[in-house]
Amino acid sequence: MTVRARTGKTLSLVVPMHDEADGLALLFERLDSATTGLDVAVEIVCVDDGSRDGTLAALRDRAAADERVRVVALSRNFGKEAALTAGLDAARGDMVVPLDADLQDPPELIAEFLALWEQGYDVVYGVRTDRSSDSFTKRQTASIFYRLFNGLSDYPIPDSAGDFRLMDRAVVEALKQLPERNRFMKGLFSWVGFRQAGVPYARPPRAAGGTSWSYRKLFRFALDGLTAFTTAPLRVWTGVGVVSALLAVIWALVLIVRVLVVGRDVPGYASLMVVILFAFAIQMIALGILGEYVGRMYQEVKQRPTYLVRERIGFGEDA
Ligand code: UDP
Ligand code: MG
Repeated sequence: MTVRARTGKTLSLVVPMHDEADGLALLFERLDSATTGLDVAVEIVCVDDGSRDGTLAALRDRAAADERVRVVALSRNFGKEAALTAGLDAARGDMVVPLDADLQDPPELIAEFLALWEQGYDVVYGVRTDRSSDSFTKRQTASIFYRLFNGLSDYPIPDSAGDFRLMDRAVVEALKQLPERNRFMKGLFSWVGFRQAGVPYARPPRAAGGTSWSYRKLFRFALDGLTAFTTAPLRVWTGVGVVSALLAVIWALVLIVRVLVVGRDVPGYASLMVVILFAFAIQMIALGILGEYVGRMYQEVKQRPTYLVRERIGFGEDA
């Protein structure tokens, strides 16, 4: 059953790029073949996220030769989430598809996304069934993160869903209304709701170049995501405090009874030391977690823009 038609509509492809010059020719080739015959107008919004290689120069040439290609060049490297945000802000299509420049999000899937959109789904996301192209450690850490996130957050991220998806204009407008600076897109995608459907696909390895995500960056990213969508790590300390207080009361009673029954005991230095160090450590951990939240609140309060644009290419007069 079709509830809406694609004819006359525009599809925006949003591609964040950081040092992707090696794979650009192949990317545009695949995008061309995947979008011909879709029966929609296409615009390709490329966001250059402060690349240090020839990405921007290559994009400039592309935009000059192909009127569907538009380029947003950021003033420096802001990170993928910010680049994606810049792309979503610039996209003007009725449907918007963010996808990676390294072809790990196969553009051929867009045809399937569109068909589901026509059936009335506002968000159609790709579900990675086969992540064998990622390293073992990456898959394990990712799996731990998803379990932790979905256990703690009220807005679970669908299992193995990435940023690759098709969104209706209404969803993009909803995302643009979210004022936060820390943009954990996967979480925001889930938070906005709407009618969502998943399409399974096997995730291929990177087509060219290398990933610019280190494990350190991934760890910070995971913390950003968790702190943005759950306050459980803050609340847990109330419980820890209550339990510790109860244990202390019980121990005090035990000591009193013991003194009354067997008389005064020689106090133990070692056990005292352990208790003091343990209590100190717990407090430091609690403080550190508090710090994670306070630091992020500081970032938000400063109200700095998520990204800065150095140049826009191919947007015409209204740019
Ligand atoms: N990317 C970006 N800014 C960055 C890092 C990455 O725009 O600071 C882009 C990158 O060019 C690619 C996408 O984000 O199009 C996904 O990056 P990558 O393939 O390195 O991540 P992975 O697939 O390893 O998660
Ligand atoms: Mg990749």
